[in-house]
Amino acid sequence: MLGKLARKVFGTPNDRKIKATRPVVAQINALEDEFEKLDDAGLIAKTEEFKKRVADGESLDKLLPEAFANCREAAKRALGLRAYDVQLMGGIFLHQGNISEMKTGEGKTLMATFAAYLNALTGRGVHVVTVNDYLAKRDAEWMSNVYGALGLTTGVVYPRQPDDEKKQAYDADITYATNNELGFDYLRDNMKSELKQMSQRDHYFAIVDEVDSILVDEARTPLIISGPADDRSDLYVSIDKLIPDLSPEHYSVDEKTRNVTFTDEGNDFLEEHLQARGLLPEGQSLYDPESTTIVHHVNQGLRAHVLFTKDKDYIVRDGEVVLIDEFTGRMMAGRRLSEGLHQAIEAKEGCNIQPENVTLASVTFQNYFRLYEKLGGMTGTAATEAEEFAEIYGLGVVEVPTNRPVARIDEDDKVYRTGKEKFEAIVEEVKQAHEKGQPVLVGTTSIEKSEMLSQMLKAADLPHNVLNARQHEQEAQIVADAGKLGGVTIATNMAGRGTDIKLGGNVEFKIMEAIAADPEGDPEAIRARIEEEHTADEQAVKDAGGLFVLATERHESRRIDNQLRGRSGRQGDPGKSSFFLSLEDDLMRIFGSERLDKVLSSLGMKEGEAIIHPWVNKSLERAQAKVEGRNFDIRKQLLKFDDVMNDQRKVIFSQRREIMESEDLSEITQDMRHEVIDELVDIYAPDKSYAEQWDMEGLYGATIEKLGLDIPVMGWADEDGVDQDVIRERLEEASDKLMADKEEAFGSDTMRQIEKQFLLQTIDGKWREHLLTLEHLRSVVGFRGYAQRDPLNEYKTEAFQLFENLLESLREQVTTQLAQVRPMTEEEQRAMMAEMMQQQQAQQAALQQQAAQQAGAEGAETALAGDFEPLIEGFDENDPSTWGNPGRNDACPCGSGKKFKHCHGRLA
Ligand code: ADP
Ligand code: MG
Repeated sequence: MLGKLARKVFGTPNDRKIKATRPVVAQINALEDEFEKLDDAGLIAKTEEFKKRVADGESLDKLLPEAFANCREAAKRALGLRAYDVQLMGGIFLHQGNISEMKTGEGKTLMATFAAYLNALTGRGVHVVTVNDYLAKRDAEWMSNVYGALGLTTGVVYPRQPDDEKKQAYDADITYATNNELGFDYLRDNMKSELKQMSQRDHYFAIVDEVDSILVDEARTPLIISGPADDRSDLYVSIDKLIPDLSPEHYSVDEKTRNVTFTDEGNDFLEEHLQARGLLPEGQSLYDPESTTIVHHVNQGLRAHVLFTKDKDYIVRDGEVVLIDEFTGRMMAGRRLSEGLHQAIEAKEGCNIQPENVTLASVTFQNYFRLYEKLGGMTGTAATEAEEFAEIYGLGVVEVPTNRPVARIDEDDKVYRTGKEKFEAIVEEVKQAHEKGQPVLVGTTSIEKSEMLSQMLKAADLPHNVLNARQHEQEAQIVADAGKLGGVTIATNMAGRGTDIKLGGNVEFKIMEAIAADPEGDPEAIRARIEEEHTADEQAVKDAGGLFVLATERHESRRIDNQLRGRSGRQGDPGKSSFFLSLEDDLMRIFGSERLDKVLSSLGMKEGEAIIHPWVNKSLERAQAKVEGRNFDIRKQLLKFDDVMNDQRKVIFSQRREIMESEDLSEITQDMRHEVIDELVDIYAPDKSYAEQWDMEGLYGATIEKLGLDIPVMGWADEDGVDQDVIRERLEEASDKLMADKEEAFGSDTMRQIEKQFLLQTIDGKWREHLLTLEHLRSVVGFRGYAQRDPLNEYKTEAFQLFENLLESLREQVTTQLAQVRPMTEEEQRAMMAEMMQQQQAQQAALQQQAAQQAGAEGAETALAGDFEPLIEGFDENDPSTWGNPGRNDACPCGSGKKFKHCHGRLA
């Protein structure tokens, strides 16, 4: 009670935010005359002046009123639209890093230009993010008129855009792009080997349109670029051989979750046998982070044996494992189980083991958008998710008032006993509206339901359009016409989003159609006639009550319901919304339908009758809030796992960048080398040990192998005064000398290039391995039978340890590789080029094969790389006569992995 009273007196926090912007809006309005007097060149000159002031240190906040006044004037001239005060307000909130919640049809597209313009004055590039490619293109084209009038450039990014165009689009002052393309470009950029190939320049300010769809609904599916993994058939086969030796006390099976867990006996047994077969190093426990991958595969191997039965879960046909659908019993050719499970079954059945696809790079939208220094968003529906926006993205939500009061009537829900009664009532309702000319937009939750309803409307002889969010461009046109007199449109919630439904239909479309139908006629006369007709149509639709949004179900979240309602009643238009429900709806079944059913019975409802009561709405909204909360928890949990990898990804990506930017990496590689030396000394001559205890033979072997040095290490332990520090110094000196000699031989420039290349290649290779290991770790922490332990903590600790290992082995590999380079013969150079080409092609193929998980509505596309011509002739790993003159300590060109001197180069 007191709360309500207080709000009346002092206003809500939202009211106060609105109030605070009013003086700024007044300032902008006061500048209108002044900017009106400028000629077109004057507006552009203003932009130059503003840019200079920003460069000289003036704050954007201070500049805001003038910049907004300039932008308003430009839009007036370029589009014939004078931005309303509420649009200026929305722009201010965006600039402040908020979500401006503005209802459909309030003109958010134009609103965004204000914040975009102001922030682009820094020269750092503003990204405007849309939900599909059609909208990116539409909005970029539309708004480029405004930016152009202000002297700024506009770019639009789209899938499979040529590299140079893409780069140009990102170099523009304002860039329109979808969330998917932005995320993929970010990942692709970080797989490039040269700075100038990177397309994105900065992550400064992003304005996200339909921000709730992108940052909440789509936040659960990460963007993934995947590619084929190395062949690991041998591993699968070796593990498979081990499984039949396990006995029931070694593991337990959970049929319901289809999981297996090893018991302590099982673990002991496995450790012993894996070590005996060389699959696990001596002394390494299965609980060590290094064992993640092997544990994962043993788990999968066991699952393949105990949870998958031949001829029930799968069959073997022509040497391939084909899954069987457990419900229909049909074969699912081409479907494969993920994470190596399919391969484990192939090993079990002695089939050919097909290569798996692994993640080469991935990012969630949460973590992509958190890269931006500043974030803003706009949508008609954000307030219900305000907590999530604040907690995850630090985004506030401000509800901006409408330009005109909303006149739409939102009716109470109507609840029917059965789905059948509900749909019959819906058809009747549509019929009545249609007969009086009122356009109806019927919202459904799925394509199947849309089609079922379409059948029913056909049977009732009601003409209608069906949309399901598959063809964005065509749908935008149909949706634009959904407000036509007597029109009936069935649509899933997503269909035609971003397109405004105008009463009486879209007048421009009507004119185009009329001109096309009458090519002889005078276009101007046709235009005048259609415009007059349209005014009459619009009035007729208004008289019939405006657009009627009829929803056939409540969604899991109130936000989606509000999106649907919001299609009607734009800019003060009349309109109506109504939800038709039944006790058989999913949401009703989960929550409170029993209670409702009792109420309904006690009221003695007849068939076909509905209950309508505000109490029903309230209790449903409570139920929805619960589901929303649960979904938020799931997203939060997923994000916590992703954050672990995200921190590591940031480290790796920034290191990559530094390496690419740097001219001279010799200091870094030297530091790495010295750290490797430290580690060697720690291993072979540990601190606090006596010289007699040192393993100088081991150290000698390691200096040859890791540092490429053959020096008389063995004698050092017998010399007086040699301690660990002296050993370290001697090794550093010798290895520095070795590298200096190499530099002399190669020339400094070449040496710098070699260092850069080795570093980048090694980082990329290690990072990919690490990603795969993290995926395995994720499934392993779930499987592990540790009661009481929190899987997330477990994951964090081990992921950290694995990352440390990554850095260590990175240092080692780079050091060893550099120690082994030497000038190449001409043939070798060619061989190396050939290999590099191959690697590049493989990478290219992977990039093109990226499997976006945007599947669903967007339609998954997997473009496969075409055939590659062999680019370099001559080198053949099977033909030693093409190898030239390999170095004795180099890897043997045959690909055996052994040194040349131990393989094809062995002296008989
Ligand atoms: P939203 O994204 O908020 O739903 P849109 O940006 O799609 O709205 O704009 C809806 C319609 O409103 C468009 O047809 C646009 O031309 C029109 N519009 C936007 N701003 C104004 C304005 N200031 N005056 C008149 N019409 C406007
Ligand atoms: Mg919009």
